[in-house]
Amino acid sequence: MIEVKNLVKKYGDHVAVNDLSFNIEKGKIYGFLGPNGAGKSTTMNIITGYLAPTSGEVVVNGHNIYDEPEAAKKCIGYLPEIPPVYLEMTPKEYLEFSADLKGIKRSERQKMIDEVVELAGIKDVYNRLIKNLSKGYRQRVGVAQAIIGYPEIIILDEPTVGLDPKQIMEMRDLIRGLAKKHTVILSTHIMQEVSALCDEVLIIAHGELIAKDTPDNLSKHVSGSNTLELMVKAPDYKVKAILSKVSDVSKFEVVDSEEDGITKVFVSSSADKDVRENVFYAFATAKCPIVSMQYSSLSLEDVFIKVTEGKQTDRRKRKEAK
Ligand code: ADP
Ligand code: MG
Repeated sequence: MIEVKNLVKKYGDHVAVNDLSFNIEKGKIYGFLGPNGAGKSTTMNIITGYLAPTSGEVVVNGHNIYDEPEAAKKCIGYLPEIPPVYLEMTPKEYLEFSADLKGIKRSERQKMIDEVVELAGIKDVYNRLIKNLSKGYRQRVGVAQAIIGYPEIIILDEPTVGLDPKQIMEMRDLIRGLAKKHTVILSTHIMQEVSALCDEVLIIAHGELIAKDTPDNLSKHVSGSNTLELMVKAPDYKVKAILSKVSDVSKFEVVDSEEDGITKVFVSSSADKDVRENVFYAFATAKCPIVSMQYSSLSLEDVFIKVTEGKQTDRRKRKEAK
């Protein structure tokens, strides 16, 4: 659907996007996750044809964005970071204007506008001046503009930034709804946003693609083998003795053994083995009650910090080696 090949964008000496390549497939919600200044907006501006790259290529639905900008842009609806919303217009006027810009036929215009107004939930403010609308409503007007004409791909740059918690929930519902008919790419610097919304995450830092995977896989990948967190009502020497005989347990580490004679221990297993059953029976046989047992997997936030830190260390090493 979208192919990005070796994209580079330099502002003077500063490399904002550094050799970025990835593909976007149809019908999924993609999240560009990265800290501020990572190059998310720059990448989105290039994909949508608003900014020319220093080098590299973007192909949208078979149309190269430079050779056939009209055809490529027709497939995309875009909510930029700072939406060009006209403050002196009403949503009605703005959407009519946007529909004309997109070349929507006059005979179909009203029907299309009615639909996006319904979808974006801006019926109540349809005839009010945009400058008098709250940030949440303005953002919805921006989304309505992005989806008018039903482009196949919808690109939203930080769609929930500046919204209150209720508006964030509503915006997420709106985005989920869009994904039924469209391919959606959104950017965010908030981890929960991608776990809440995205099928696939692209982590970007310093203009480079660091990881591309499902939110679940990313957590697994980074945490390596799963770690079981165990609390047992028994002294630590006993816990150690029991665990050392459980099959498929490769490693364990007692972290705490104070509170009410309860020992807390982290248990690692070989490969992808689920050792909960073995562990349960081992302690049951020894008459040592397990008070809690759970797998600790890394949150996306941990993943994010881990991969970006790793990358920074690599960079430092490369720099020092020079
Ligand atoms: P993000 O959207 O991930 O926060 P941006 O794409 O906006 O990141 O910015 C990436 C980098 O490029 C930043 O270091 C930013 O300062 C720089 N940058 C962005 N736009 C310009 C510009 N017009 N001129 C110079 N530097 C820019
Ligand atoms: Mg940005």
